[in-house]
Amino acid sequence: RLEIRNLRRSFDGRAVVDGVSLSIMPGQVTCLLGPSGCGKSTTLRMIAGVETQDSGEIYVDGKLISDAVTRVPPERREIGLMFQDFALFPHLSVEGNVAYGLRGSRAEKRARVEEMLGRVHMQRFIDMFPHQLSGGEQQRVALARALAPQPRIMLMDEPFSGLDNRLRDGIRDETLSILKEEDTAVLLVTHEPDEAMRMADEIALMRDGKIVQQGAPYNVYTRPLDRASVAFFSDAN
Ligand code: ATP
Ligand code: MG
Repeated sequence: RLEIRNLRRSFDGRAVVDGVSLSIMPGQVTCLLGPSGCGKSTTLRMIAGVETQDSGEIYVDGKLISDAVTRVPPERREIGLMFQDFALFPHLSVEGNVAYGLRGSRAEKRARVEEMLGRVHMQRFIDMFPHQLSGGEQQRVALARALAPQPRIMLMDEPFSGLDNRLRDGIRDETLSILKEEDTAVLLVTHEPDEAMRMADEIALMRDGKIVQQGAPYNVYTRPLDRASVAFFSDAN
C-alpha cells in the first residue's frame, strides 16, 4: 500500500508539485492523468526516490520511507518502475535483463525468469539480446523485468506510449492482469484520458501541480469539475 501526503516540489521558485496526496491499495490501479507539464513525472520521480521533495511524506505499507529527514534510497524502497524510455541493458541477454535485481540461487533466478517470460509470451527469446528484438518484444521483456522481483508497488510513467495501437492493447491487458494477480498497488501516469479510462480503478486528475478531481473513471469522465477539465477531455480526443 502506497500513501503520499502533501508532496511539494518547486523548481526556480515555481511550484511544480503543489501539495499532492494519494493513497493506493494493493490490487488497485490509480491513474495520475493530466496535461503535459502538470507535474505527473515529477510526482512519480519523488515517490521512486530519484527526485527529492521540498516537503511531504511517503509511506509504503505504513512505513515512512521519505520525509524532510528520512530518505530511504531508491533501490531499497521495494517499488517497481516502468518508464517510457524503459531501455533494456543492451549488453545483457533477455535472461540477464529479467534476472537483474532478483535475489536467490542461480536456479531460483532462472526459474523466475522463465516464469515471467512465459507470462509475457517471450520464453523462446530468453537467450537473445535486446537489439535482436522488435520494440514491442523489448517492451514485453521490460515488463517481465519490472514485475519479476514482485514489487508491491509499481510506478508506471507512460509505459505504453511508444507502441502502435494494436500492440498496445495486448500489452496493456497483459500488464493489468499480471499486476492484479500479484495484488500490486499501481500508480500509472498518462496524459491520455483513453488510457486512464481503460486501465484505472481510480483517476486522479492533475493540473498545475494539484489534484483537482479524483474518483472512479466513469464519474470523472462524465462529471468534469469545471471548464478546464472539459477542455482537457475534449482536446485529448
Ligand atoms: P508530460 O506529460 O509532458 O510528461 P509531466 O506532467 O510529466 O508532463 P513534469 O515532467 O513533472 O511534467 O514537469 C512539470 C514541470 O516541471 C515542467 O514545467 C518541467 O519543465 C518542470 N521541471 C521538471 N523537472 C525539472 C528540473 N529538474 N528542473 C527544472 N524544471 C523542471
Ligand atoms: Mg511526464
